[in-house]
Amino acid sequence: MANRNASSGDAEGGQARAVANRLLLSAATRVVGVIGHPVAHSISPLLHNTAFGELGLDWVSVGFPVAPGRAAVAMAGARALGLRGLSVTMPLKEEAAVAADDLAAEAARLGAVNCVVAVDGGWRGENTDGAGFLAALARGDRFSPSGARCLVVGAGGAARAVIAALGDAGAAEVVVVNRTAERARAAAVLAGSVGRVGEAGEATGCDLVVNATPAGMGDVPGRPDGWPVDPGLLRTGQLVVDLVYHPPVTAWLAAAAEQGAITRNGLGMLVHQAALQIGNWTGKAPPVDAMWQAVTGPEHDGYLR
Ligand code: NAP
Repeated sequence: MANRNASSGDAEGGQARAVANRLLLSAATRVVGVIGHPVAHSISPLLHNTAFGELGLDWVSVGFPVAPGRAAVAMAGARALGLRGLSVTMPLKEEAAVAADDLAAEAARLGAVNCVVAVDGGWRGENTDGAGFLAALARGDRFSPSGARCLVVGAGGAARAVIAALGDAGAAEVVVVNRTAERARAAAVLAGSVGRVGEAGEATGCDLVVNATPAGMGDVPGRPDGWPVDPGLLRTGQLVVDLVYHPPVTAWLAAAAEQGAITRNGLGMLVHQAALQIGNWTGKAPPVDAMWQAVTGPEHDGYLR
């Protein structure tokens, strides 16, 4: 369990170095940015700057609010200014995939980019969301999707990354449940032969249940009412993950815990997808523990790893 009270010396050192580095910003400092709309709430710069501090790199990460439809212009400008990379968040991931000069295989498959890397010839688009999700499961819960029955609610960008990753990781079944049937079908295909469209009622028989809709997310107009899956369908021994991490414990996650399920929020995916971005930009092994400890605290005990 990562928190600020336990084994946090290294992480605090990393954060302190991140702060010190910010004070030493110079003309030689390498810059990366987070683009999205809105972006001021993003904790990705904290994750990145903690990593840069921990690695002793003269790099800095800042947020750039970029309106929908402006990703290509922003990427061209960032390239002209010599930025080393961009983290791309909602609602620009599909635009960034179109604007990138080259796409890594995962980004091409998903048609979405959450990270661009400065390479000779322009921006290479990557997508670290699915790998970040799997890394969070492996680290926190030692959960391997290999042979597991999985159910994912949602068929948007986050769901598609998770569905594809679960299929790649050898899941026995990936059941996709979504409001819009056509989007469910298109998402299920990403898991290959083990993907199919299903019903929320199938959750009881699954080892892993994931909410990849904004249900339960704070302050989002039009968020779904009700539960992604009726908590009465959840049970002891299951791993239940809500990709929402604000609030840290959604009402649905709390209800799942009451049913005896092991529950995790989306912060693990956020930390690990950011860690993979650090690796893409710098070529160095990301300091994952320090990044975890930068964004977790005692209030998350029992929910985050
Ligand atoms: P998205 O592309 O907009 O997809 C949203 C999904 O939710 C779609 O499947 C949509 O269904 C469904 N949905 C939205 N409103 C609904 C409603 N009123 N009733 C039923 N279903 C509804 O969003 P996204 O980027 O995938 O993000 C989804 C969630 O994951 C967000 O809460 C986001 O914060 C979270 N997320 C977390 C991480 C992380 O690192 N932890 C990363 C990315 C996203 P339709 O297809 O029918 O429209």
